[in-house]
Amino acid sequence: TEEEDYRARVEAAALPEKVREAALKEVDKLERASDQSPEGSWIRTWLDTVLELPWNERSEDAYDIAAARAVLDADHTGLADVKDRIVEYLAVRKRRADQGLGQIGGRRGGAVLALVGPPGVGKTSLGESVAKAMGRSFVRVALGGVRDEAEIRGHRRTYVGSIPGRIVRAIKEAGTMNPVVLLDEIDKVGSDYRGDPAAALLEVLDPAQNHTFRDHYLEVELDLSDVVFLATANVLEAIPEPLLDRMDLVRLDGYTEDEKVAIARDHLLPRQLAKAGLGGDELTVDEAALRRLAAEYTREAGVRNLERSIARILRKVAAQTELGERELPAAIGPDDLRALLGRPHHVPESAQEPAERRTAVPGVATGLAVTGAGGDVLYIEASLADAETGSTGLTLTGQLGDVMKESAHIALSFLRSRGAELELPVTGLRERGIHLHVPAGAVPKDGPSAGITMTTALASLLSGRKVRTDVAMTGEVSLTGRVLPIGGVKQKLLAADRSGITTVIIPKRNEADLDDVPAEVLERLTVHPVSDVREVLRLAL
Ligand code: ATP
Ligand code: MG
Repeated sequence: TEEEDYRARVEAAALPEKVREAALKEVDKLERASDQSPEGSWIRTWLDTVLELPWNERSEDAYDIAAARAVLDADHTGLADVKDRIVEYLAVRKRRADQGLGQIGGRRGGAVLALVGPPGVGKTSLGESVAKAMGRSFVRVALGGVRDEAEIRGHRRTYVGSIPGRIVRAIKEAGTMNPVVLLDEIDKVGSDYRGDPAAALLEVLDPAQNHTFRDHYLEVELDLSDVVFLATANVLEAIPEPLLDRMDLVRLDGYTEDEKVAIARDHLLPRQLAKAGLGGDELTVDEAALRRLAAEYTREAGVRNLERSIARILRKVAAQTELGERELPAAIGPDDLRALLGRPHHVPESAQEPAERRTAVPGVATGLAVTGAGGDVLYIEASLADAETGSTGLTLTGQLGDVMKESAHIALSFLRSRGAELELPVTGLRERGIHLHVPAGAVPKDGPSAGITMTTALASLLSGRKVRTDVAMTGEVSLTGRVLPIGGVKQKLLAADRSGITTVIIPKRNEADLDDVPAEVLERLTVHPVSDVREVLRLAL
């Protein structure tokens, strides 16, 4: 009978004792349930799920750290710091295993490595490499948009159509009890009335609890203590605090142009050539072409769009070849891009006609910001309200957050109180309103780091002097004009460099952050660390 069959499978599966007991109990229930009852079908599905889990499967760890380093190096160009950090992590795991110690636990124990950075910088693919380096199977659990605790921990079996949660499904997919599980986009879990997925994740990641993880559907305990959990996130601020506490952060801030060219040459191009069915000896794309692709056709912190553009070129070449319009072998140089991809999307400000530049009129200043997509330049525009409209005071637009709004008020107050000293004509300001706008309004912006940019935009408006086109800036401003430190210096400088900015103003107290900025970028940029907003105005106007 069916029940005998299940009983035999349960016995053959060498399940952990408690699981075996629970499974046999279910077989007994199945015996009593009538053939057509819904209960019978629930029990069958549950038994199948339990029997499919890899209770006794585990892979042997390949703890050769030098070989692991070689795997990381082979899969990813650059990222020396990140690879160092991963190798340290593996080395510590190996030493602890050698000495018969368990995994590192507790708060701030560094149990979970979290790779944090903008899109397309290789976070997910590094996770895969870690699994490969350890000789473990790899599963990715996409957490983006998960709002329901049951997504993580499953629904109770009484719930119609219930299934196990993502963790149990990941183990099943991995086929071993000790895979590398990448909790992808952990910054995008939300919570609502259906419970807090972050709390469930916390339990999953907690070494004190995760050897007895309970999925609502499975009901029996699952030992997750041998799983290596990694996490990825775009924005640190969006990771729930208790989760953040358990993570060891590894930052990936984005690539310079040279790094992108090297990545494209070593990895993206060979992969896309193979995908397009083109041999490496049939088609070459030279470095100058790759560089132009990175600079003018894509503008991003990572390399995802760069890879897409390469794929587009190769598809076109494949089609042209098959249509008899192109002979292979062929070579693609920078001048071929226009014919293949059309006009470039990104022309640096400095390369544009003076009249077309954003800062061509007084009142516009260039700032630097960090968004979920990496660093970016942003323009702050100030204008005087029409005298006839009679509006006074400060109008702010562009979806600004509260902190950014405060910055605008501080900037204006500073100029009002110090205008005379700065020789800015601030008379009449009380009668005429000022409008401050941060374009690209669909992106909500917040944070204090636009303070000096707002001050500069307003000072430019009031003095009628244009802001220098090649200058971008970041820094918080106080009521007395002091420039206070901000975050994201590396991402912001990379963004300035991508946009063709040549001079950057940063707070003096952020000077130490320049150590993290690639030398190649610092060579191209003139960086002015300042402590007072008067210096900013002298440099920018
Ligand atoms: P997201 O936040 O959008 O998920 P991600 O950081 O996970 O982005 P990946 O999908 O890992 O990005 O990377 C995008 C592509 O770029 C992958 O094909 C990856 O292999 C490649 N890539 C990124 N960085 C490197 C690098 N340093 N060397 C080689 N390939 C790289
Ligand atoms: Mg990813």
